Amino acid sequence: MNAADLTAWIRRAAELVAADAERLTELDAAIGDGDHGHNLARGLAAAVDVLDELPADASPQQVLTTAGRTLVSKTGGASGALYGMALRRAGKALKVDEIDARWLGAALREALAGVQDLGKAEEGDKTMVDALARAVAAFDAARHEGADLAGAARAAAAAAEEGAQATVPMQARKGRASYLGPRSVGHLDPGAASTALILRALADVTG
Ligand code: ADP
Ligand code: MG
Ligand code: MG
Repeated sequence: MNAADLTAWIRRAAELVAADAERLTELDAAIGDGDHGHNLARGLAAAVDVLDELPADASPQQVLTTAGRTLVSKTGGASGALYGMALRRAGKALKVDEIDARWLGAALREALAGVQDLGKAEEGDKTMVDALARAVAAFDAARHEGADLAGAARAAAAAAEEGAQATVPMQARKGRASYLGPRSVGHLDPGAASTALILRALADVTG
């Protein structure tokens, strides 16, 4: 995996989120303020535009840190700051031009650490962390069992989807949904749902 593949990942994530923007926004309308899908679609589209302007010899680190900075400024809201941090931290972890499964695993772990350093959510708080933490664990587990990068990415995508679904019975303890207390139970967390799409996009471009 190289810088061009990372750009393809962001492009694919932008496509998947745009296609599901209405659903993500409805999820957020139920337990938040109803802006998640459209905000994130706008931020990712802006990131794709900025990546298209990068020089052809841009490094993996530049691709992800540039995408992260753009998300912070163009997405807005909690998720813009959190996804922006995730991509910037993942990018800083990538110190080579050719990324193997070990490097990508390290980058994903940094993304999770960035989200948790900024947002202070743990697994079980009904946030994107529930999808991302499972994805990171599944990626590493698959890699240790001998999976290649594509196989580990597929495992991560499946685990992210399971992690998102697992938020349904949870009561939110972080973010806007936490204001609802017990009334947040029974709804899929929108940020966990978008994280599952972003990991799906990774599996799409690596497989
Ligand atoms: P906002 O709530 O500012 O409108 P979004 O609607 O774009 O932001 O994003 C909401 C999502 O952000 C939630 O569904 C949740 O997954 C995630 N989120 C909110 N706060 C946190 C946090 N402290 N840690 C991790 N994720 C969070
Ligand atoms: Mg919102
Ligand atoms: Mg908002």
